[in-house]
Amino acid sequence: MPGFELFGNEERKEVNDVLKSGVLMRYGFDGMRNGHWKAKEFEIAFAKRMDSKHCQLVSSGTSALTVALASAGVGAGDEVIMPTFTFVASFESIMALGAVPVLVDIDDTLTLDPAAVEKAITSKTKCIMPVHMCGSMADLAALKRICDKHKLLLLEDACQAIGGSFDGKPLGAYGDLGCFSFDFVKTITCGEGGAVITNNEKYYINADQYQDHGHDHIGNDRGAETHPHLGYNFRISELNAAVGVAQLRKLDDFLAIQKRNYTIIRNALSEVDGVTFRRVPETGVENYSFVNFFLPNATLAEKAHKALGENGVDACFYWFKNNWHYINGWEHLRNLKSLAPLPKEIKTQIQDLNKTDFSKSDAIMGRTISSLVKLSWTADQVKERAAKMAQAIQSVI
Ligand SMILES: *Cc1c(COP(=O)(O)O)cnc(C)c1O
Repeated sequence: MPGFELFGNEERKEVNDVLKSGVLMRYGFDGMRNGHWKAKEFEIAFAKRMDSKHCQLVSSGTSALTVALASAGVGAGDEVIMPTFTFVASFESIMALGAVPVLVDIDDTLTLDPAAVEKAITSKTKCIMPVHMCGSMADLAALKRICDKHKLLLLEDACQAIGGSFDGKPLGAYGDLGCFSFDFVKTITCGEGGAVITNNEKYYINADQYQDHGHDHIGNDRGAETHPHLGYNFRISELNAAVGVAQLRKLDDFLAIQKRNYTIIRNALSEVDGVTFRRVPETGVENYSFVNFFLPNATLAEKAHKALGENGVDACFYWFKNNWHYINGWEHLRNLKSLAPLPKEIKTQIQDLNKTDFSKSDAIMGRTISSLVKLSWTADQVKERAAKMAQAIQSVI
């Protein structure tokens, strides 16, 4: 991660195909486009790679989450269970629909704790949204059992774990719906873009229509199409999709590089007494975009993070502080600071996030450090980095 590190002529060629015809839109203008349908091409290839029947591209990972929820009928007042450690897109995408985010603790997988999820279910719960943070996954088998028991949707946010798998299935393809981001810092990028995958034909048709103003996409006269439902504009542009076509072809090469670099770092840190690693659920395979490890306690983790920086090791994250991927950093959410009045369902139903006890999450995040795994590092550079990391951490333990 990120895919822009290995950007090259392959991407340029795809973009030039689009620039030559000048058709920057994914729909229509059939006669002008020289047979180029980059968004469609990306969708077909992505669905295939992700072992899913359907893929709908959209303008971002955040819009993918909103489109996925809307396609499955999640709306005003419905509760969606999400983790305390995630990107802000999780609650943004839920609240955009007037639905209510319900935050619950994570466990040592750094993702949703199934026991905490089960406790948070109410008569209004509609969906469980695990977020596969930093390259590895939630315990999807446990979450699926809960979803089956309570008749809930399982929506996987696989934006940070593209290419990983669980129980032999690509992450994103295990639940009812899966979402991906191709923003500029993701494992494959197209500048801005996202995708929803599903095996459910109804959700797919809904997603296809919803992301394009409700257009039915039947026939080839856009102006004459009907609009079975209200929609919105979450379309991807043909230019962005073109970059994605080239990046997707490189995905498996990227994953192999990440795995090599990850393994070097992990092996070096395994030698340091006191360092342990994030739990990967049984049958899970990471995408190796981060090495995530624990120090024995929060004081040591903070010290280790500082020592890493002082020793010139970049791209290490202590999410617990000075970052915006943990509830600690979401003052605007905790105090519902919105530009305009929020839907009354959100205002009346949302938990008081200033008072909710997230000490279980704190206990894990306080000890967690993540090292990004870059694609452009040579094996020698990674070895040097790994040795420096081990030394810096050792010095504080
Ligand atoms: C990047 C990301 C998103 C949102 O993607 P954008 O394309 O930036 O909107 C959502 N969830 C997670 C976990 C992410 O890392």
